[in-house]
Amino acid sequence: MTGPVEPGSTVGVLGGGQLGAMFTVAARRLGYRIAVWDPDPDAPALTIADLPLSRPFEDASAFTVFVGSISVATYEWENVPVSVSEALERQVPVRPASRILKILQNRFEQKSFLSSRGVPVTPFRVASDPEALTEAVAAVGFPCLCKIATQGYDGKGQWRLSDQQSLDGLCRQLRGQKGQWVVEQFLAFEKELSVLVVRAAEGDRRLYPLVENIHEAGILRTTRVPAEVDPRTAEKARTLAGSVVEALEGVGVFCVELFLMPDGRLFVNEVAPRPHNSGHYTLDACTVSQFEQQVRAVCGLPLGEVQLLSPAVMVNLIGDDVNRAGAGEGLAELLRRPGAKLHLYGKKSVRPGRKMGHVTFLAEKPEAAWEAALALRQALRNPDPHEAAP
Ligand code: ATP
Ligand code: MG
Repeated sequence: MTGPVEPGSTVGVLGGGQLGAMFTVAARRLGYRIAVWDPDPDAPALTIADLPLSRPFEDASAFTVFVGSISVATYEWENVPVSVSEALERQVPVRPASRILKILQNRFEQKSFLSSRGVPVTPFRVASDPEALTEAVAAVGFPCLCKIATQGYDGKGQWRLSDQQSLDGLCRQLRGQKGQWVVEQFLAFEKELSVLVVRAAEGDRRLYPLVENIHEAGILRTTRVPAEVDPRTAEKARTLAGSVVEALEGVGVFCVELFLMPDGRLFVNEVAPRPHNSGHYTLDACTVSQFEQQVRAVCGLPLGEVQLLSPAVMVNLIGDDVNRAGAGEGLAELLRRPGAKLHLYGKKSVRPGRKMGHVTFLAEKPEAAWEAALALRQALRNPDPHEAAP
């Protein structure tokens, strides 16, 4: 690295979803200008970028404008084309590097890399066409999960297979399709955990506290920090997460998702080369947020403190939740509530399963934050208290 990218320079971000928007806000606060490139004209970060570019990633003139305006580039999610990131890298630094994007955006490449480095991952097999699924499932055993190797997120492109019948059904469904699938053993984990790791070009590193994640239908619903696990497990999990980012020699913010088994074993589920939904609590509960750390790491500034200032529980507002909690009485109630921090992403259309916002509850005692989050979850389940119970 030649030296820091100074405030006043323009940072380029591939992808303009809520993660890109939160990155933009953090970068602006540190005096940077931001170029956001996202093919979707409704991407939230485009409305707040200095240079919004809503063109397909294949557009050569958009590439010229983008690369000509920026001093460094990053991305807000891993499903951007590696070819674009590689082309950018020939002219400006890209952090995390394209070689990392390439490894992490394919589940098979990612798991192969991690296991070759001695990182415990869920037992898996790859199937390079639907016909190979039967063999992969036979090697892994039931119950298992079949996941598309690329482009999956929020549990999309995943099938749970519990018996031969469900496998036959999936084979019929996928017949003739081209692609790659990873078959993974279904783990009866005790908890899902994650750790944010920030790493600078010179190798300086910060690890955020261990958090506990609760998913519903494959989508993250709630994150609780600190995680309720014994201190030894927490340390083991953080050390493992740190070693994953060291193995990658990554520069930027990484989230390492883990499964904790009832016998205390830990498995890495997956690694994201960017800030993560389970790290949104850092915006309100930590000295320096995951987005500011991304700015710092990408621009070569000193990394910030990761101290947790308060226990916190984050609840995602998914799909129609936003009409209940982010509007009308629900909105007023959340805004009045001490310790509740509401974030709405300003997405124009509400779709089932779409992340529309989140709320972070802060409290002196973890139980109080948990209770507040549970109350919100309950209210979201029963939007109208006068509705007759089934
Ligand atoms: P995200 O975008 O939320 O990170 P994703 O689509 O990349 O999700 P995964 O993280 O692989 O997919 O899986 C989503 C969720 O499905 C996990 O958080 C976990 O709850 C469950 N899951 C995934 N793999 C397994 C497994 N091998 N055994 C048990 N549950 C699993
Ligand atoms: Mg995941």
